Amino acid sequence: MENRKYPALVMDRDALTENVRILTEDCGRQGIEIAGIIKGAGGWVEATKAIVEGGATIIGSSRLEQLARCREAGIEVPLMMIRVPMLSELPELIRVADIALVSERATLDAIERQASLQDKEFKVILMADLGDLREGWWDKDEMLQTALYVEEELAHVTLAGIGTNLGCYGSVMPTEDKMQELADLAAKIEINIGRELEYVSGGASSSLLAVYRGYMPEKINMLRIGAVSLIGDLEDVRVCYDLEEIDRLGRPFTLQAQVVEVKDKPTHPVGTLGVDAFGKKGVYEDRGIRRRALIAIGRADYGDIADLVPTRKGIEIIGASGDHTILDVEAVKDHIEVGDILTFNLRYSALLYLSSSENVKKYVK
Ligand SMILES: *Cc1c(COP(=O)(O)O)cnc(C)c1O
Repeated sequence: MENRKYPALVMDRDALTENVRILTEDCGRQGIEIAGIIKGAGGWVEATKAIVEGGATIIGSSRLEQLARCREAGIEVPLMMIRVPMLSELPELIRVADIALVSERATLDAIERQASLQDKEFKVILMADLGDLREGWWDKDEMLQTALYVEEELAHVTLAGIGTNLGCYGSVMPTEDKMQELADLAAKIEINIGRELEYVSGGASSSLLAVYRGYMPEKINMLRIGAVSLIGDLEDVRVCYDLEEIDRLGRPFTLQAQVVEVKDKPTHPVGTLGVDAFGKKGVYEDRGIRRRALIAIGRADYGDIADLVPTRKGIEIIGASGDHTILDVEAVKDHIEVGDILTFNLRYSALLYLSSSENVKKYVK
């Protein structure tokens, strides 16, 4: 603690390993392996190592830079690019990663050219859009033909499998019919190509619903898990269902921020009101004079105040600008001073922003 700099993102490494271990064991019993997705932790290499120790057999990110850092740090499991790749990053993709999720034939052709240039074999997972309407083939016949095309025509591209993504844009739930649709597609492709696919990737954290409710089709053998393992809670990753199995997980990440001002102030602004730092009209309740504390961290670091949760009872976050956060500490007024370090639990998007903010120092607990 002595020389710690603030704001600090603190990782309980053992808690993260344990979360992943619980999830890999539960999924493993159903023949499902876990690709640990590290984008929510900014690709933090120490976190990635903890995730591999917990049993993830693949590491995935939406950012090639993060995968490159994993490679340089000597992480040995296969690395998977999970944002459908840009044509402009294919040389680096082939150099750094082993697998990519792909949804365009033009990209597959370009991967073939680049992999051939680098004299490498590169694996792809073709994405099916089952209604969430982000990436993936909507026309499933076209997808089947493309799978056959990769299998038969592309010498340096290996059709490793198919996958889908749900609950990202269209809020579509991983219901039994959606999971079965993916399994059926995989079965069709396997008949067409005359062999089994290595991976059928059934979605992200939200697809744990199918695992724990017991309806995941046997064919699905991989999930790409980030948020739930990193946050350890469903509500805080904005999943709309409860699973008591998730209550066994811990919270690996907390934020520590330092108090820089403590004063009694009015609760309603004084003067003619225009707009706030983000151009919004504020809504201010007049609760009289109350004790306020400022901490030295702001929305530039974590996004939205709703995604920070004070661990200390009696502290309420009432607003923030880019670099300051304002707390109502009236209920604990005699216990907060300049220089104090306050701790916050994080919802998923706050962790995503904080872990990639260069203003935030990272520490392993
Ligand atoms: C972010 C992402 C994941 C992981 O999602 P979580 O909700 O964090 O588990 C999986 N697949 C893709 C394609 C993603 O973009």
